[in-house]
This record gives sequence, C-alpha cells and structure tokens, in this order.
Amino acid sequence: MKILVINAGSSSLKYQLIDMEDEHVIAKGNCERIGIDGKITHKTSDGKEVAVDVAFPTHKEAFLKLMELLTTGDCAVISNISEIDAVGHRVVHGGEKFFQSVVVNDEILKEIEELSELAPLHNPANVQAIKACTEVVGKKVPQVVVFDTAFHQTMPAKAYISGMPYEYYEKYHVRKYGFHGTSHRFVSGRLGELLGGLEGKKVVTCHLGNGSSISAIKDGKVMDTTMGFTPLDGIIMGTRSGAVDNSIVSYVAEKEGLSWSEMNSILNKKSGFLGISGVSSDCRDLEIAASEGNERAQLALDKVVYQIRQYVGGYAAAMGGLDAVVFTGGIGENSAAVRYNVCKDMEFLGLEVCEEACKNASRKEAKFSTENSKVQAWVLPTNEELLIARDTKALVK
Ligand code: AMP
Repeated sequence: MKILVINAGSSSLKYQLIDMEDEHVIAKGNCERIGIDGKITHKTSDGKEVAVDVAFPTHKEAFLKLMELLTTGDCAVISNISEIDAVGHRVVHGGEKFFQSVVVNDEILKEIEELSELAPLHNPANVQAIKACTEVVGKKVPQVVVFDTAFHQTMPAKAYISGMPYEYYEKYHVRKYGFHGTSHRFVSGRLGELLGGLEGKKVVTCHLGNGSSISAIKDGKVMDTTMGFTPLDGIIMGTRSGAVDNSIVSYVAEKEGLSWSEMNSILNKKSGFLGISGVSSDCRDLEIAASEGNERAQLALDKVVYQIRQYVGGYAAAMGGLDAVVFTGGIGENSAAVRYNVCKDMEFLGLEVCEEACKNASRKEAKFSTENSKVQAWVLPTNEELLIARDTKALVK
C-alpha cells in the first residue's frame, strides 16, 4: 500500500510518498510560494533530486506538478497516480469535535472549515489542499485527516479551562487545545513499545523545535500540555514569546501605540529566542553566539532550559510521579546542551543522566539516563508523517 502524506500551509505543500510494506519514504518534496510564484523541490529515496520554478497560482497546480514528478521523468517512482492507495492530510485544528483521525467526506470537510475561526491561518489552507487533492486524484482515492490537536483531547477540564470567565469558553470555545499532538503521540507511542506499554507510566514529552511544546502523558493519555488556545502559549520558542503576563501586552501596546494585530505579530514573530537574544531564532546560532560570550544569547538559552525544567517538575507533581522524559524535535534531538542542562541536578526527582551518553544521543533513538536512574531520559526522533500514514492505512483498510 502506498500512501501520500500532505502537510499544507497557505503558501506551501510538503509531501511524502510512503510504502507501507516497510514504511519507507519513496519520494518527498516541497511546493513553495503557492499563490506568489512557485517552486518545487522533489527527492527520491535513491538519491535523485530535482528543483523547478513553476507557477503555482493555487494548491491545485502544486498537486498537478507533484503528481507529474512522481509519475514521469527521471525522478518518477510510480507509473500512475492510481498506484496511490490513499492520502493522509495533516490538519492543524480539530477543536473539541475531533479526538481522532477520520476519513474525509463532505460533512467532515465542512466541520474543518467551520473550525477555521480557531485557526484562521491554518485550517483554510488545509481545506484548500484537501479540495485540490480531490480534484487531482479523484473521489475514489480515500483521504484521511489527522489533527494536531486530537491527541490532547484527553486533557481534563482543570487543565484546559482558562482563568477567564467561563462564559467565554461557552460562547467562543476559548480553552487550551494543545498542538504538536501527532509528534507527542508518535514519541510516546514509541516509548510505549520500548517499555512494553504505557499503562501505569507517567511521561513528559518535550517537542523542542522552532515551535515547542511539552506534554504530561499518563497511561498513554495527555493530562496537560504547554501550548494553549493557539501555538503561542507555553515556553519561549524561535520567534514566539510563550506565555507572558497578559497585562504586559496591553501595557506595551499602549506605550508603543501598537494595534492588536501589530502586537500579535510581535508576540508570534519577533519574540522568544529572537526577541531575547537579538541574534537569531535558531538554537544553533544561539549556542555559537553564547560560546563567543554573547550574554543575551546565553540568557535566551538559560530561559528555555529553566522553563523546560519547570514543566518537567510541574508535570511530575501534577501526575504524582515520573517514569520517563522524552526529547524530540530539532532542538530536542540535536542539542545535547539543552537536554543535559534540563536533566542535570534532577536526582531529587529520581532522574540521573550521563553527560557522555547525552552527547552521544543526538540524532538517534537513545537512552541517556544512567542504569540506576529511576526515571528514564530518552531521545526519540519524531516522525509525524509516518504517524499520519499509519492512521491513514488503519482507517482505509
Ligand atoms: P524543527 O522546528 O523541529 O525543525 O527544529 C528547528 C530547531 O532545531 C532550530 O532552532 C535549530 O537551530 C535546532 N537545531 C537543529 N540542529 C541543531 C543542532 N545540531 N544543535 C542545536 N540546535 C539544533
């Protein structure tokens, strides 16, 4: 069975064609600058590569081009579109409606569209991509949607309700939803395979990348997570502020004469690593700048480590214990310094890590807690596309 996995944004469309026999990626690529001009980069598993500038007025033209590259020319990996058995789409917001992946039909598409109010930048693009895909592959090829929010739907009300008047939750559905659910589900699921199940286990999963979130997972179910109503909440990220005292927002907006949308843009695009350091939104750049003595780069790194430690400790207390901490995402998988600084001096929690093992754990699946440690520490590379493909296979079979 071959499954095409789609991750669409408003101006981009990433894809992977996965052979579910052995779960290997046959080809993958990225259509960029949709609605602006257009460019596609396409790679096959045997190392062939092509990059072409091509007009993408809408997602439909991007689909047509990626299908052309999959089926014809030097980089072709299948002879006909009909070899694609199903398509799996990443959809950002499933609201309170979707707690698992589903097969797309007109009704589901309408519901995803209705949730656009909660994710105005993402859900409309996801809907456009599903519609464009249907036009290109036809209605006979089943399509599945996998929601970023779904895995977090097990959170209890005490975790997801905000401190504002309850009527706003009732009227506007404002609450914590959480994001990166596919990643938290993938790595916690993998941990379950390694530990022989998650029953009775209390786990903290740290997805640390350009966007970052941390989840408390008990018995395989999310109890709490750091991202909230939007992916702005929680810890500092590449350019996002994470949680700040709301009063600062109105205070600074008034002082600087900023509109709500200007302030929103500052919180999402000019804060976090970039805002604190003034150097970069990229963790690698911060680590280099800090090693050269840049104090604000060091401050940004100290802040993120401090916040992650607060959540590891806080979630352990909330769950009444801790069995494992998992690191994933670009920073979690690659930065030994962030991992080590989060986990060191945590013996009081039962977590003891080996600095050398932590260094060697980068970019692969590896445990870096000591043999005596009661709490295990792991690097588990995430693979959201594979989880989407697995869900798609399970639902269309
Ligand atoms: P992601 O959004 O998951 O692709 O993660 C991107 C983040 O991972 C960026 O902040 C990168 O700087 C960071 N990252 C990637 N490789 C490394 C590395 N070797 N050391 C530290 N951070 C890294």
